[in-house]
Amino acid sequence: MLNFTVGPVMCSEEVCAVGGEQVPYFRTPEFSALMFENERLMLKFAKAPSGAKAAFMTNSSTGSMEAVVMNCFSKDDKVLVIDGGSFGHRFAELCEIHEIPYTALKLRRGQKLTREQLFEYDGKGFTGLLVNVDETSTGVLYDAEMIGEFCRRNNTFYVCDCVSSFLADPFDMAHCGADVMITGSQKVLACPPGISVIILAPGAVERVKNAKVRSMYFNLADVLKNMERGQTPFTPAVGILRQINARLKEIESAGGADAEIARVAAQAKDFREKIKELPFEFVSESPANGVTPVHPLNADAYEIFMTLKDEYGIWICPNGGEMKSTVFRVGHIGHLSHEDNTTLIDALKDMQGRGLI
Ligand SMILES: *Cc1c(COP(=O)(O)O)cnc(C)c1O
Repeated sequence: MLNFTVGPVMCSEEVCAVGGEQVPYFRTPEFSALMFENERLMLKFAKAPSGAKAAFMTNSSTGSMEAVVMNCFSKDDKVLVIDGGSFGHRFAELCEIHEIPYTALKLRRGQKLTREQLFEYDGKGFTGLLVNVDETSTGVLYDAEMIGEFCRRNNTFYVCDCVSSFLADPFDMAHCGADVMITGSQKVLACPPGISVIILAPGAVERVKNAKVRSMYFNLADVLKNMERGQTPFTPAVGILRQINARLKEIESAGGADAEIARVAAQAKDFREKIKELPFEFVSESPANGVTPVHPLNADAYEIFMTLKDEYGIWICPNGGEMKSTVFRVGHIGHLSHEDNTTLIDALKDMQGRGLI
């Protein structure tokens, strides 16, 4: 299998090997030590401010998006949602469900967010802002620093969904002033799905401690309290947390977050050069490193996905909804090499020779 989707992605041999081991009991000092190490490396790689805490959630990242909306906002807030694709729209839906007053700043498919567009909302009393730093559905990377400047000026609580951009695009949580950062195990962390991590800056830690949450499982104050002893309130995905530990140490010994970001950037650049020979167009005005959305000029995007999967054993990522036939995505995250890019391009050229592209 050769997997170019944006999650789950290819795991390293070491991470796979940990996945093949027995899963240990976890209410032990040994597991607590592993959790503290996971927290330390996650905070370091996110460049989190001092005093930040990590919450390891056994749920997909949408669960963490929901937990953050439930724990950080209330009916008294006024939230701005950057809605440039299906993940931005998900934040709007979550505000709807939890009755958080919000305004959606809508962007066209692939459109970047400019300073002019954002600062139209300046001085309008927004208490919160929700953004997917890489809107993975269209591969648009928003400027987290510019949004941070807006939030600082407006005293706005700033939530960054970095699910697909963490370790793929440069991100400095302390510098951009994000209060919360969310990511998940199956994207650049290149582990199986099942764990999502929420990093909370000190102000966010205070906020969730005082929140009145109508949920047992999504009570972040409870999660943080347990994490003081390296534990979780309920049984976590122990096996995946052990794989995350192996992966974080692997990244650390290969040069840390910046080295991994450079590796993903080079993987994306190599692919974008090689695919220029084919009758495809790029979609994103401000491309993120993790994924390239591609618009085929002469063929149905979903058909290309199916043929590559069924006839070549290669997985690219189809798009959902209205972009299903017009856009497919190629991921650059996980355990992939430049040779793997060549294998994919050769398969696409073969399809072109067969008149399928
Ligand atoms: C993948 C992704 C999610 C959701 O992840 P799930 O694990 O499927 O819930 C959320 N936001 C962004 C930006 C993503 O790329």
